Amino acid sequence: MKIGWIGLGNMGIPMASNLLAAGYDVYVWNRTPEKAEPLTSLGAVFAGSIEKAVESCDIIFTMVSDDDAVKSVYTGPGGLLSTADVRGKLAVDMSTVSRETSRFLADQCQRVGMRFVDAPVSGSVGPAKEGQLVIMAGGERQDFAQVKPLLDKLGKVALHLGPNGAGTSAKLAINLLLGITVQGVAETLLFARSMGITAEQMLTIISESAVGTPLIRGKAASILADDYPAAFALKHMAKDLRLAREAGVSSPLAESAAASYRTALEEGLGDLDLTAILRFLDPEKK
Ligand code: NAP
Repeated sequence: MKIGWIGLGNMGIPMASNLLAAGYDVYVWNRTPEKAEPLTSLGAVFAGSIEKAVESCDIIFTMVSDDDAVKSVYTGPGGLLSTADVRGKLAVDMSTVSRETSRFLADQCQRVGMRFVDAPVSGSVGPAKEGQLVIMAGGERQDFAQVKPLLDKLGKVALHLGPNGAGTSAKLAINLLLGITVQGVAETLLFARSMGITAEQMLTIISESAVGTPLIRGKAASILADDYPAAFALKHMAKDLRLAREAGVSSPLAESAAASYRTALEEGLGDLDLTAILRFLDPEKK
């Protein structure tokens, strides 16, 4: 089976690599072609255009930034849906976008006889490299069943949650918890510091406590170094909390987290990891 992969950012590269490692023929495309080099050096074929990637493949994955990016990849000039014969092919969008966009893409695909599954993921670059993502899918059950063996190469769990948009809905919910958790850790560290407890001490305590998680343990070194190279960029967290608000969430913590990440983005922290919310909240860094 030939696989198309569109979008080689922080997540797309390790995910497409796992399909290559599993023995699939993978045709990749990225807006910035140079970013395909790690994949082509492993044996992927760089398709010169989206259309070429789609023509060559039976299943096409997309993993790009946001709603505008994914719409451009599907419906823009030279996009996926302008390819001559896509009838019967399956498109799987793993980007985090709004439910409206997932349903819009499903509808646009259906018009040209293509099938569509929304399958966003939870887990960052580490789990992506290890094939340990959590994958939340929406679409026809038989389409999910067709792509499930591939999803099993990318994640430790892949759940079919309902019709198109259901995967995206679950993703917006889990990322609400992610945004709140990271802000909660940042506030805890700052409160502890104000009482003389160091970040190192407090991160050890959190990690060993009932609220310790792989997320917090994984981010500790970066927090202690005050160095935030993006695994999951803060701009994407701000986007996801905006999408959650647009989907109707209006709880106190959601409001607070959305406002924090949005303002941090406006202050220029968007390309850092989401844990840079600590730098934003720290009064000593103002
Ligand atoms: P990223 O590193 O910022 O990469 C974004 C990708 O989208 C790049 O390949 C970029 O191409 C492409 N792109 C952006 N605008 C485009 C456009 N108009 N047309 C075509 N391609 C475009 O993002 P990422 O971290 O891989 O995340 C991808 C998606 O997964 C996002 O929706 C994010 O919210 C979600 N996600 C991320 C994580 C994480 O930890 N990173 C975890 C779960 C979910 P260029 O290379 O040309 O810029």
